[in-house]
Amino acid sequence: MYIEDGSSYGYFERKKKRGLYSWGWLGDTVPEDKLGWTDAELKQKVIERLNSFSGNTADENCCRVDLYCGFDTCALCSKQGYSILEGNWPDRACFCGSLRLEHNSKVYVSPWNVQHYIEAHDYKPSDEVIDAIFNGRPQTWAERDKIALEKAHEEIMKDLKREREEEKRREAARPQWLKDYEKESAAKIKELRKNKAFVRM
Ligand SMILES: [Zn+2]
Repeated sequence: MYIEDGSSYGYFERKKKRGLYSWGWLGDTVPEDKLGWTDAELKQKVIERLNSFSGNTADENCCRVDLYCGFDTCALCSKQGYSILEGNWPDRACFCGSLRLEHNSKVYVSPWNVQHYIEAHDYKPSDEVIDAIFNGRPQTWAERDKIALEKAHEEIMKDLKREREEEKRREAARPQWLKDYEKESAAKIKELRKNKAFVRM
C-alpha cells in the first residue's frame, strides 16, 4: 500500500481530508529524500517511542486503530528475499491497522508497525512527523471505534430518511382510484367482521 508522505488522502479517506497527514505508507520503495539517518540516537528514540504504544486491543489504551483495514506484509522485505514460508520473516514486518497521532490540529496517520520501516529499511520520516511522534497524542482504539460507530449511525439515519422519502414518493404516485378501492375494501371487511361474517377455523 503506497501513499505519498504528507498526503491528505488516507487509507480510508478516499477524498482529501483537511488536517490529515499520511506517512510511512511506503510500498516497495523508500523515497530517496527519506532514506538514512544522521542521528542514530534519535532514530533509536523514535523507534522506542513507537514501540511504547500499546497494540493490544484488550488494553483500554490500545493505539492500534482501523483494524478492519486488512493485512499487509512488507514489500521491501519480500524484495530482499525474506519469506514467510521459509520462516525467516522479520518481526513487525506485517501491518494491520494504523496509528493516528493528533498533534497541532492535525492527524498523522501511518500503518501500525511503521517502525519496522525505520528500523529495518532506514526510513526517516520528516521532522514534522518526528515532532508528532514525540509530542502527539495517539487516538485510542475505543475513541476511534466510537468515531467509526457514530459515522455508521449517521449513514444509517441518512439511508432511513432516503427510504422514507422514497416511500412517500411512491405513495403519492399511486392512482387515486386504487387508494379509494383499498379504503372501501378495508371498510367492507371491518363491517363484515362486526357482523361476525367470518368464522374462525
Ligand atoms: Zn521490511
